[in-house]
Amino acid sequence: MCMDGRIIEIAIKWMKDNHELNWVDTVTEPGMDGWMAAMKLENLGGLHEKLKISIENHGSRIVALFGHSDCAGNPTDYQTHLTHLRMGCKKIKVLVHEIAPDLKVDVVTLFVDVDKQTVIEITDQEDLAA
Ligand SMILES: [Zn+2]
Repeated sequence: MCMDGRIIEIAIKWMKDNHELNWVDTVTEPGMDGWMAAMKLENLGGLHEKLKISIENHGSRIVALFGHSDCAGNPTDYQTHLTHLRMGCKKIKVLVHEIAPDLKVDVVTLFVDVDKQTVIEITDQEDLAA
């Protein structure tokens, strides 16, 4: 998720409430959805290492990529956030498969509306079609 303090608590609470989690590991970059969309897979070694620790050592079985409104790190419109989230989701799925090919680890994308303090689940059309 983004480093923006306005979304971190909302995002963690939503994950705990909706996925019955006790703890949530966090990885942040400014405008994480745009960052993920722009990064090439071969340059995501740092994220790979963080996901590996979260999955292997902390037992994480769900990975969520968050975007949010009014994002200084990724100042764009909602539709572009959705595009970035879908692009980022695909890359996270590749990393997760590399780390844990035999484990079921869900990857989800979410969007925080900062003004409304709400979380929107983004449904991936390609997943629905698959
Ligand atoms: Zn942001």
